[in-house]
Amino acid sequence: MDKNLLAQREKQAAKIIVNLNRRKMAGSFVPTAEAVRAEVLSLIPSPARVIRCGSESAGGLGLWAAIAAKPGVTLMDPYAPGLSKEAALDVRRQGLLADVMVASTNAITLDGRLVNLDGTGNRVGAMIFGPTKVILVVGMNKVAWDLDAAYARVRTVAAPANNIRLAEAYGLKNPCLEDGRCHQCMSETKICNIWSVIEGSAVKDRIHVVLVGEDLGF
Ligand code: SF4
Repeated sequence: MDKNLLAQREKQAAKIIVNLNRRKMAGSFVPTAEAVRAEVLSLIPSPARVIRCGSESAGGLGLWAAIAAKPGVTLMDPYAPGLSKEAALDVRRQGLLADVMVASTNAITLDGRLVNLDGTGNRVGAMIFGPTKVILVVGMNKVAWDLDAAYARVRTVAAPANNIRLAEAYGLKNPCLEDGRCHQCMSETKICNIWSVIEGSAVKDRIHVVLVGEDLGF
């Protein structure tokens, strides 16, 4: 990526990490998507059970295979091929008791707040309580100026894009699939049900945010 943009993002990430620390969360910065794997693997203890929480940010990096290959680590994967809907739901339930959760966030504010919008709530549920360690892989494209900008980012980018990603698999019939923008619908197949804003962590450093210089996910 452009070296000036990378330098700007690195400076911005340094400030975000200071603000995460003030909220009793940890943070680190890696410049490239390529560097994410090693960083995340270094944060996962062994032995550990790790729950995968549907992150597009992590998905393209070969991260899940690398986690599953780490000695002593068991990957709990609700997206494993061949799993029935019921079995996948059961993995998600069991995942609330995992040692480590790996996911992303829909937006992060400059002052270190994590903003998410979920369909079923297993992802935000586990972020808030359950797994001993939460590792979030977050491209700097998800940084928002403040809480209002974070909500707007989720509505204008993350939620419609996730609808397009999931439309076929889940038979979605939501208005954003037509024109790519959120209508704040009440559709039967709506995937936007639960907002969460994480302002801080009761347990110091339970949540670790890996900020990535390159764009990652949506
Ligand atoms: S239109 Fe409905 S399903 Fe689509 S992003 Fe908005 S609330 Fe979510």
